[in-house]
Amino acid sequence: MKVWRIHAPNDIREEEMMLPVGEHCVKIKVMYTAFSLTDNLILSGKMQVNYPVVPCRTCIGMVSEVGVGVKTLQRGDIVAVKPFSPCGTCLSCKQNVTYNCENKITYGVNEDGFLRDFAVVSASDTIKLPESIGASMDAVFLEHIDMCISAISKLDIDKGQYLVIMGATDMGLILAQIAMYYQAVPIVVDVRQDFLDKAKDLDIYYTINSMETDASKKIFSITGGRMGDAVAYMTAATLPITQAFDFVKKSGKAVIVGWQDTASDLSYPYAQIVNKQLEVHGVSGSNNNYFSAVNMLANKAVRVKGLIGDVIETKDIPSFIKASDNKDKYFKTIVKCSDF
Ligand SMILES: [Zn+2]
Repeated sequence: MKVWRIHAPNDIREEEMMLPVGEHCVKIKVMYTAFSLTDNLILSGKMQVNYPVVPCRTCIGMVSEVGVGVKTLQRGDIVAVKPFSPCGTCLSCKQNVTYNCENKITYGVNEDGFLRDFAVVSASDTIKLPESIGASMDAVFLEHIDMCISAISKLDIDKGQYLVIMGATDMGLILAQIAMYYQAVPIVVDVRQDFLDKAKDLDIYYTINSMETDASKKIFSITGGRMGDAVAYMTAATLPITQAFDFVKKSGKAVIVGWQDTASDLSYPYAQIVNKQLEVHGVSGSNNNYFSAVNMLANKAVRVKGLIGDVIETKDIPSFIKASDNKDKYFKTIVKCSDF
């Protein structure tokens, strides 16, 4: 089995690895993984991890072997692997709130990830994908959908309410679609017209290019003077977080969605949060909404086709790595890891 392992910043090597299949594990032929922003940071040494590590936490693949104790999966099933694995022994795990696990391992960060042709994981870390999704690369966005479901639930957004989304990133545009699914009204703000155009393609009606328009005034006018009932800030956005709370009403809610390492600067003068009596939440990583995320993708409540960046094959990895410092933060690169 082949893996691509990072040994030091900008040093990634193709290696062979043997993996026995344990009793409760499955062997998966990895079809797709994704090179996300955090993988680029790990590769370039800008995010702290213990090398060596196989990057990429996303895995869509086909079950090729099942351990003797696995009854829920069989050869040929198409599965997604959750990006983290709970320890099973801490208090949260014992209370069955595994996403709050205190010692959880995240694939591609503190456990080898999925830039490889085959992987062996615990069967309980996988989700069988329905035929309507099948072996489609759309499923690489399940973690994003999972996080956006958490964001909507923390904001407790209601029908007809305005949600200002700062960042027309892949995550921002997924969040806007989930807001519409709950009949809320998203207003997407960014300076990237190419991504605001993608929002239009996804039938997101209100978009604001804050380079060309005074976003506060525009939101004031769209909401009839109310401003946003809630605001969501995407950490990968090119907009400053200091603007976020200008766009939300007094006693409104806010959520910051993403990963600290992907943000250019998350520091903020908190006076505005106090003065406006805001309720602020954070969402980082999967919160175990995977089943809902699969359903949303299957019934097309969330469409991701336009959000896919480059699709590369493993032979392209060296040239991709060379250019990884210049990658567009708004795009996820998908890697086709095996022939199928
Ligand atoms: Zn745990």
